[in-house]
Amino acid sequence: MNLTEAAAGSDLGAIRTKAVRQPDGSYRITGQKIFITYGDHELARNIIHLVLARLPDAPAGVKGISLFIVPKFLVNADGSPGACNDVACVSLEHKLGIHGSPTAVMSFGDQGGAAGFLVGEENRGLEYMFVMMNHARLNVGVQGVGIAERAYQQARAYACERVQGKAAGAATITPIVEHPDVRRMLMTMKAHIEAMRALAYVEAAALDRAHAEPDEAARAGALRLAEFLNPIVKGWCTETGVELASLGVQIHGGMGYVEETGAAQHLRDARITPIYEGTTAIQANDLVNRKILRDKGATARAVMAEAGALAAELVTSPAPALKAIGIELAEGARAAGAAVDWLLAAAGQDSRLPAAAAVPLLKLMGVVLGGFHMARAARIAQGRLQSGEGDLAFFDAKVKTAWFYAEHVLVQAPALLATVTRGSATVMGVPADQL
Ligand SMILES: Cc1cc2nc3c(=O)[nH]c(=O)nc-3n(C[C@H](O)[C@H](O)[C@H](O)COP(=O)(O)OP(=O)(O)OC[C@H]3O[C@@H](n4cnc5c(N)ncnc54)[C@H](O)[C@@H]3O)c2cc1C
Repeated sequence: MNLTEAAAGSDLGAIRTKAVRQPDGSYRITGQKIFITYGDHELARNIIHLVLARLPDAPAGVKGISLFIVPKFLVNADGSPGACNDVACVSLEHKLGIHGSPTAVMSFGDQGGAAGFLVGEENRGLEYMFVMMNHARLNVGVQGVGIAERAYQQARAYACERVQGKAAGAATITPIVEHPDVRRMLMTMKAHIEAMRALAYVEAAALDRAHAEPDEAARAGALRLAEFLNPIVKGWCTETGVELASLGVQIHGGMGYVEETGAAQHLRDARITPIYEGTTAIQANDLVNRKILRDKGATARAVMAEAGALAAELVTSPAPALKAIGIELAEGARAAGAAVDWLLAAAGQDSRLPAAAAVPLLKLMGVVLGGFHMARAARIAQGRLQSGEGDLAFFDAKVKTAWFYAEHVLVQAPALLATVTRGSATVMGVPADQL
């Protein structure tokens, strides 16, 4: 995907790459793109670039962007790769992490113009690109989960081997996994990863249902849910993935900071995930403007009503874990609902308020929805424990992990609500020259 240019990152409306119509129906493309993942390589016979560019008579901004296919090699009539197109990789970036993935500066048209072929209609390029980008955003959210999971597996293995001191209450020296604080860090990783994975799967399932439900209204409802969850999965799972990869380093102590263990690589690799495919702020703006304000909070409220209904059921449970989870989930769902109410009111007062609240609000939604799906899992696992069927150790751990999540993560929801409702006004208080 060739979107980004030096002066057009988050703001794709600023794209300058040019496309000029040719008599044969093709287009001549000229311009430079930066940060293009796998912009050039020798792993395939051809590379098909999808390039955003602007026609000379296009309207300004995002409404004047078109999408083109620009192959590295022009394709012969028999389908084989033919002459080189006017596309060149002019340099590779030196990065903090993901060293296995080349990030290229791509130049189009240095020799007079690269041949490009329009996708769909002129000026509708960004709309088409978003079909791919929404999938890519879910995938990057899953990348956040995946890196965090690998960091967790490695930290857990290290904590079980590394012997250091005597844990509180132990008679002899112990592996560090017995220190309550190391256990806290491992549980923080495990609980978040399970919540993040559940949320990503719920979005993926909603996307499948949006395609495959026989009933049209059910398809539309599933699509609304998937679109609502998309920025939350991308933003929350990647930001949290970085924090968890950092905890993985912490569990290793000094061995995490040196390269031998590989823990530092996870932190470096995770760091790109809240940046590419739209930074966290861009996800949060999407959540606030398109996914909450546009339907006046209807989807957000419907989702939180489901969480609230489960919480109401769990608080009456005789199982202490489910009851505790229910209490925190009820508070979380209430906090998320109150944040939506505040947002709808604030948007009419000062447009800077929703923008200042956007990222904490996205985090609040992630924390609460992660807790909702952990609570669903805990309810099922508790049922299996009672029936005594299956892997009881797994079900017991599932319930206790959800309980931990409720009391270490879900409890943050009221504080995040305060940041959204009271903290947004202070964000712009200090003038830029006093920063
Ligand atoms: C390793 C790597 C691989 C990449 N791969 C690709 C690729 O394959 N194809 C491609 O097209 N691009 C790719 N990118 C580009 C990537 O998508 C952009 O870097 C990203 O969208 C951010 O744009 P930017 O770097 O210009 O940052 P900027 O847009 O300059 O953002 C800088 C800061 O300002 C904030 N900001 C900007 N606008 C707003 C706003 N409206 N509201 C609130 N905050 C805002 C951002 O959140 C960020 O914190 C890649 C980048 C990297 C580093």
